[in-house]
Amino acid sequence: MKAKAAVVWGPGEPWTVEEIEVDPPGPGEVLVEWAASGLCHSDEHFRSGDRVPAEIEETVFPLLGGHEGAGIVSQVGPGVTELAVGDHVVASFAPTCGKCRYCTSGRAMICDANRDFMAPGQLVDGAIKHRVRGRDLFVMAKLGTFAERTTVSVNSVIRIDADIPLDAACLVSCGVPTGWGSAVVRGGVRPGDVVAVVGLGGLGISAVQGARLAGAAHIVAIDPFESRRDSAAKLGATRVAASIEDARPDIAHLTNGQGADVVVLTPSVVTGEILAEGLSITGKGCVCVSVGMGELGQTPVPIDIGMFSLLHKEIRGSLFGGMNPRSAPVQLLGLYRDGLLDLDAMITTYPLDDINTALADTSQGRVVRAVVRMGAAS
Ligand SMILES: [Zn+2]
Ligand SMILES: [Zn+2]
Repeated sequence: MKAKAAVVWGPGEPWTVEEIEVDPPGPGEVLVEWAASGLCHSDEHFRSGDRVPAEIEETVFPLLGGHEGAGIVSQVGPGVTELAVGDHVVASFAPTCGKCRYCTSGRAMICDANRDFMAPGQLVDGAIKHRVRGRDLFVMAKLGTFAERTTVSVNSVIRIDADIPLDAACLVSCGVPTGWGSAVVRGGVRPGDVVAVVGLGGLGISAVQGARLAGAAHIVAIDPFESRRDSAAKLGATRVAASIEDARPDIAHLTNGQGADVVVLTPSVVTGEILAEGLSITGKGCVCVSVGMGELGQTPVPIDIGMFSLLHKEIRGSLFGGMNPRSAPVQLLGLYRDGLLDLDAMITTYPLDDINTALADTSQGRVVRAVVRMGAAS
């Protein structure tokens, strides 16, 4: 069958909206009619090519983008019992098997089934189901949610309640749990903490909201764009600053010169310098969580080694915010329904045809999270 979709033909080229060919679902697969999809910076790493090693560049184009999607199941493959036609779902870039050593030890976000984005095949099982102008597509995160419909593995989607608006729901697919969990789970924010969040896109604003709900006394939100600082202030930040350097005196004042209890780094691109700066505003015995993606293979990182041995600081990585990819979306939508997590204030919607405008508005800090809609309404 046919579907309108956003495709990139080579590194650094713009999205082009065109028709792709989608095969129907086989065993263990479903066809999803995507209603809405957020623009996550991971898509941008692929479009721009900065996350793609040169030796495999040819394999990731033409690229079908999108992994932060929400939609409705319209067909199920033979023998599928986990989902039914009409189920509302959100995408999951982190499939879970429920059986491996990671799933069975509380670390499902790093399940063995969560193979690298670069692994061959368009679905988790390696199947090929999507073509453009006769060529096989590289399907982002085995999902490709910048499309009216794609065929995906049942392990790559999570059922949600049908009363949740899909424009908002798509955010719990990637950005919100990643940011929220980085503060609350990986950072372990406790009541009374001083928290610093660096970078206020979808992940950072989610980290701010998580820190607020976990009881942080002070949340210092840092971003060069004023509009994003304003959004953070509305959603829980107690202080804002344009840069880590600008925030440093404030953080010192709030912590008797010690540094923040939890620092969350969610800039568009993490560099060694940002990591070092983040650790420098982290208090002794405290945690700096690095969430955003950096350039693969970038070294060195100019960190003072004394920060670890003498000051007992930690740097922690974070995939999916350390949350369970199967339960976290449902849990977070429960908070949304209860008015404790504001997704509506984070999103700006665009028709799929305007995806390049959505990307430009994101890059220039005019929006927190751009969401493209595949149809007129969702
Ligand atoms: Zn993402
Ligand atoms: Zn597993």
